[in-house]
Amino acid sequence: MSRSVLILGGGIAGLTAALALAAKGHSVTVIEQGAHLGGRMWHAPPPVLLEAHGATWSLIKSLGQDAVTRPLRHTPLEFLQSTGARIQFLHLPLPSPLNTLLGTTLFQGLSMRDRWHLLSFLERTWEQDPPLPNDLDSRVADEWLTSIGQSETARHGVWNSLARLLLGAPLEDISAGLFMRTLRRCFLTGARATKLIVPPQGVDSFLLVPLTRELDRLGVRIKLNATVSQVRFSPNRVTEVEFADRTRLTADWYLSALPPQRLTPLLPERVVTHYAYFQQLSRLSESPLVVVRLHLDLPARQTQLILLEGKTFHWMIRHPDEERHDQTSVVWALAVGEPSLLPQSTEELVRLAMDDMAAAFPTAEPPRILDFDVMRLASAMLASKPGTHQYRPIATSPFTNFLVTGAWTDTGWPANLESAILSGQRGAEAISAQL
Ligand SMILES: Cc1cc2nc3c(=O)[nH]c(=O)nc-3n(C[C@H](O)[C@H](O)[C@H](O)COP(=O)(O)OP(=O)(O)OC[C@H]3O[C@@H](n4cnc5c(N)ncnc54)[C@H](O)[C@@H]3O)c2cc1C
Repeated sequence: MSRSVLILGGGIAGLTAALALAAKGHSVTVIEQGAHLGGRMWHAPPPVLLEAHGATWSLIKSLGQDAVTRPLRHTPLEFLQSTGARIQFLHLPLPSPLNTLLGTTLFQGLSMRDRWHLLSFLERTWEQDPPLPNDLDSRVADEWLTSIGQSETARHGVWNSLARLLLGAPLEDISAGLFMRTLRRCFLTGARATKLIVPPQGVDSFLLVPLTRELDRLGVRIKLNATVSQVRFSPNRVTEVEFADRTRLTADWYLSALPPQRLTPLLPERVVTHYAYFQQLSRLSESPLVVVRLHLDLPARQTQLILLEGKTFHWMIRHPDEERHDQTSVVWALAVGEPSLLPQSTEELVRLAMDDMAAAFPTAEPPRILDFDVMRLASAMLASKPGTHQYRPIATSPFTNFLVTGAWTDTGWPANLESAILSGQRGAEAISAQL
């Protein structure tokens, strides 16, 4: 049975849901307040993807883009520690758990003692003896790592860098449960899962453009520059949405793909106060991100990703310039969960990024900046604080024809691209299941 669906928000979650629903023959309209689709991924730096991001790769493949990204697979993961030591995480093409056991044993980023503690923890986890504590979601990752024998050096030099990259915040600010689950999915499920891919073209070319083309082919209507200002309800259903220009639209189903802070002001107060499902959204918060892009007269042969300990920026990505890789390259410096950087001037942020760049990619002569960009986002991604897990909603809301999706909803992943795609697919599946 074909039904009409209104999708509020044209980020990756909304677009993925639109694709799945239109493919099932539903009449889909996507409402986006901005002048372009893609939400926060639009103009973002090239994304860091893991092989473990199964839903992302399936989507890329279904859009016929696998051939574009496949040759680029595998960017080595490198750590630059505050001692100046540079360590690479080795990908061992062995079946699981051998790859993890040997990879951990050989990983020079951790001392022998830390490696031994980690290996004995992994062994106990595999044997479920004792089972993992069930309060991990409310515990702080830093405290939990200490409890399994990880030294301060290991926590600062390795785990904190991974926490920033994978969850967007330092160890002291994230839930042990989410960190543990993310590490397990990324590093303990086989050699393939560990591989990192940083496609230099950015998400526009290998995801957004083909996705938009496919939506167009399936007849999905896109309304840009359309801001939803209210969602109206009858006692048990959504009846219509109203726009900032006072026009209205109705549909059989409504699927929100908005950030939580944008969704609650659109709902009637009685709905927010009466239903715990909506009330708990106010418990979710987002953490900041600062990105500096430097175009430098510095040659680079291959893409590099380096995690930095004790620097202003937490990781750097360097791509060869697509046309002039023997002369210039593009460096992206990212700092997550550091609100103190937001008010810094552009000149200061560029200077700090150049300082960190000199440590990450040392050269005899400092390179010349050909051009640069600075992006400051006060609300970039869901903060994965201890306890957050219980407030991330599932797709089905208390109202039968109203679904909620977005990277920040309960997908089991940190609020990343994989989570956005999974949530969009789950929202679409929930509608199909109810039909
Ligand atoms: C700079 C940056 C870099 C990132 N890098 C990575 C990475 O390397 N790897 C990774 O996996 N993830 C990364 N992420 C995270 C990833 O981009 C997000 O998790 C994902 O894009 C979120 O998608 P979404 O659809 O859930 O939400 P959003 O992208 O926030 O989409 C919500 C949409 O709703 C629209 N909207 C809001 N209010 C209204 C309204 N009232 N009416 C109509 N429309 C409205 C917004 O304009 C937006 O388009 C990054 C995020 C940022 C910000």
